[in-house]
Amino acid sequence: APPAEKFEYQAEVNRLMDLIVHSLYSNKEVFLRELVSNASDALDKLRYLSVTDPDLLKDGPELDIRIQTDKDNGIITIIDSGIGMTRQELVDSLGTIASSGTAKFLKTLKESQEANVDSNLIGQFGVGFYSAFLVSDKVAVSTKSPKSEKQYVWEAEAESNSYTIREEKDPEKLIPRGTCLTLYLKRDDKGFAHPERIQKLLKNYSQFVSFPIYTWQEKGFTKEVEVDEDPAEVKTEGDGEPKKEQVKKKTKTVVEKYWDWELTNETQPIWLRTPKEVSTEEYNEFYKKTFNEYLDPLASSHFTTEGEVEFRSILYVPATKKEDITDRKTKNIRLYVKRVFISDDFDGELFPRYLSFVKGVVDSNDLPLNVSREILQESRIVRIMRKRLVRKAFDMILGISCSENRDDYEAFWENYGKFLKLGCMEDKENHKRIAPLLRFFSSQSNEELISLDEYVESMKPEQKAIYYIAGDSLSSAKNAPFLEKLNEMGYEVLLLIDPMDEVSLTNLNSYKDKSFVDISKEDLDLGDKNEEREKEMKQEYSQTCDWIKKRLGERVARVDVSNRLSSSPCVLVAAKFGWSANMERLMRAQSI
Ligand code: ADP
Ligand code: MG
Repeated sequence: APPAEKFEYQAEVNRLMDLIVHSLYSNKEVFLRELVSNASDALDKLRYLSVTDPDLLKDGPELDIRIQTDKDNGIITIIDSGIGMTRQELVDSLGTIASSGTAKFLKTLKESQEANVDSNLIGQFGVGFYSAFLVSDKVAVSTKSPKSEKQYVWEAEAESNSYTIREEKDPEKLIPRGTCLTLYLKRDDKGFAHPERIQKLLKNYSQFVSFPIYTWQEKGFTKEVEVDEDPAEVKTEGDGEPKKEQVKKKTKTVVEKYWDWELTNETQPIWLRTPKEVSTEEYNEFYKKTFNEYLDPLASSHFTTEGEVEFRSILYVPATKKEDITDRKTKNIRLYVKRVFISDDFDGELFPRYLSFVKGVVDSNDLPLNVSREILQESRIVRIMRKRLVRKAFDMILGISCSENRDDYEAFWENYGKFLKLGCMEDKENHKRIAPLLRFFSSQSNEELISLDEYVESMKPEQKAIYYIAGDSLSSAKNAPFLEKLNEMGYEVLLLIDPMDEVSLTNLNSYKDKSFVDISKEDLDLGDKNEEREKEMKQEYSQTCDWIKKRLGERVARVDVSNRLSSSPCVLVAAKFGWSANMERLMRAQSI
């Protein structure tokens, strides 16, 4: 056989390995969660491919995970009958940083103080496959892909910058398909190789894996065995005559020990259970494990739809901020067809992009198992599903906004407000659902955000419109001269500080039949016109206006007498059909 070939890790892997071996001491047991989740991913991939290529299962129809422990030698083996890896895939997957979770971990690490490395970071993000080295001196991955004739072994030691790959030659280790991972535990971590310890960790970490996980457990059964009865104990009857049988047989119970595979997890997916029977903790745990999140979600919604299209779903609003609203590779929705995981790689097919912060699982019985992106895009069923999912997502968000605890919605708005504003632009059909969820600063509240409903409720009886002014800061908007008159009249004015605020209101156009009116535009009509007096004033000051216009020249379009100020002498207004000053600022900023 050709000798083992040596490979160097990618630089990031070296950095990560160094951290794992030298700095991360807490939460070591997450290694099991990471490795089991990889096994489960590998099984998902195989199950999905086998739908169109049943031959893939010809070497064994079982899709499961088996974990064996050798406590005397401190060895754990994790075997899955999944997709396995070719030689090249071994190099690509286990020599570089593949996982987004791991990349996220490294990024957070870079941002945080080096001193905090041993915090709970690793428990929060996980470091994927390399977490095996949290507890192991040496790791061997023996793997057989259906694409490859041969089985290969990847092997590495904890304190090394390199790994080796060789062909598997040990006949005892040959497997028809899948991956066998062997962990040679560090001296201090050999305790993990106890069968009860592994079983307990699995119950904690892997209750949502949808493939059976078996652990190798010692069992005992009781057996009745016949033994000769001690003759001395044989009693004689009343007349002293010995019984007919001098030596009697007696049965005794003994415990016989043996080892066998024991099913350790419950494989019924949580979304198939009755919502009433699932606790909030279970929903939250499922969420955290499935989406690699460390904070409980802000809200969740578990529902079944029937009728035209049937599917089950659990949706979540995360509590973690999503920075990039243009990021489309979000893997936020996991689609299953008849419990088979199909994909989490969508681009607006199941959820509009502006709702891509919502995470969840969707399981449909009505889609074909070999459904492709193209089919999804065309499918009428998917369009109906999308509509229902969006409606449920809005119900869920509305639920947060109705919560007694105002902080909840504030947190939501802080994290995802800009996504809803984007929705005003991208989803006309759902304006009615989005508008009540928007929040703005107002001239009559201190720093506190208000909803459009709150605005409308406190409108003056004679007030016709919803007034707003845009500015680049709260204080500049609040101190704008335009506000003077409205303040005097007791009209509330929305202060639009975020560049997207104004655009979203312009798109909504109106709310509850009240149109949005920019108080910085020239034709502002507050319903208090006194035409007589205006005429007089215009006449009286026409020369003054001419003189000012002459002095300012091209810098202004017109100089006019206005009735909209109460204490400031003058104000710059935008033309009726032009951009507001704020929009001009925005456009200028964008063209740089
Ligand atoms: P992630 O699972 O997030 O992709 P990991 O570091 O956990 O990142 O794993 C890296 C890659 O190694 C996986 O994406 C997968 O391609 C491969 N891999 C790991 N374990 C297995 C396994 N048991 N079977 C097949 N491939 C695996
Ligand atoms: Mg992984």
